[in-house]
Amino acid sequence: MIQFEQVSKIYAGGQKALMDVNFHLRQGEMAFLTGHSGAGKSTLLKLITVIERATAGKVSINGHNIANVGPKHVPYLRRNIGVIFQNHHLLMDKTVFDNIALPLVIEGFTHGEIRKRVAGALDMVGLYGKERHLPIMLSGGEQQRVGIARAIVNKPPLLLADEPTGNLDPKLSMDILRLFEAFNDSGTSVLIATHDLGLIARMKYRTFTLREGRMLGGESSTAGGETI
Ligand code: ADP
Ligand code: ADP
Repeated sequence: MIQFEQVSKIYAGGQKALMDVNFHLRQGEMAFLTGHSGAGKSTLLKLITVIERATAGKVSINGHNIANVGPKHVPYLRRNIGVIFQNHHLLMDKTVFDNIALPLVIEGFTHGEIRKRVAGALDMVGLYGKERHLPIMLSGGEQQRVGIARAIVNKPPLLLADEPTGNLDPKLSMDILRLFEAFNDSGTSVLIATHDLGLIARMKYRTFTLREGRMLGGESSTAGGETI
C-alpha cells in the first residue's frame, strides 16, 4: 500500500526531518507510527499526501512512485487517502452534515448520493441524528468523530491519522481506535501516528518507530514496551 525506500526529507532551512527511511504498510494493514515530538511522524505523513516532497529516495503508493506526480494529479491521489488530524480542522460555522459532505461536494456527487453517504458515515461513527448540529454544540470526542466521518465518507482505501487521540481521555481514545479497527476490518489500510505508547500497548498492531528522523530497525508487533 505504502512503500518508503531510502527516503530522506531535509527542509529548506536545512532541518533533517527524515533520514534513509524504509518502511512498508501492507494492503489492508493497520499499523502505528510512533516517536517523540519532532521525530518526523508528521513529515512522513505529509510525504504520503504530497503536502511535502522527499529530498531523496522513493515513496510509492500502490506501486506508483509519487515522487514525480505532477500538481494536476495530486488531487486525484489525495482522494484515495482519508486524513484525520488531532484538532480535526472542522469548519465551525458549518453544520455537522456540511462538514462531512465537503469531500463529496468537491468530487461532484449528486445531492441524493451525498445525503446517503453522509448518513452512512454518521452511523459508522455513532453520531446519527446530530447532522444539523454545529461543531461547537458537540463534545471534543464527538468533534473528533465528525473529522473521522469526513475522512471516510468517500470510502478511501487508505486512512492516515496524525495524533488522532491527542486531546482525548483514555476511554475516548480507545473508542476512536476501535473505530479505526472497524474501518480496517472492512478492508481500509490504516496508519496512525501517535506518541501515546500506552494506547499502542493495548493493541496488537505493528508499530514503526522514528527516532530523530530514522526508522528504528526490527519494527515490532508489541511495541508498548519499546523505548523511543
Ligand atoms: P513529529 O510529527 O514527529 O513531531 P515533524 O515531522 O513535525 O515531527 O518534524 C520533524 C522535524 O522537522 C522537526 O525537527 C521539525 O522541527 C522539522 N520540521 C517540520 N516541519 C518543518 C518545516 N515545514 N520546515 C522546517 N522544519 C520542519
Ligand atoms: P504537530 O501538531 O504535527 O506536532 P507542529 O506544531 O509540530 O505540528 O507543527 C505545526 C506546523 O508547523 C506543521 O505543519 C509543521 O510541519 C510545521 N513546522 C514544524 N516545525 C517547523 C519548523 N521548525 N519550521 C517550520 N515549520 C515547522
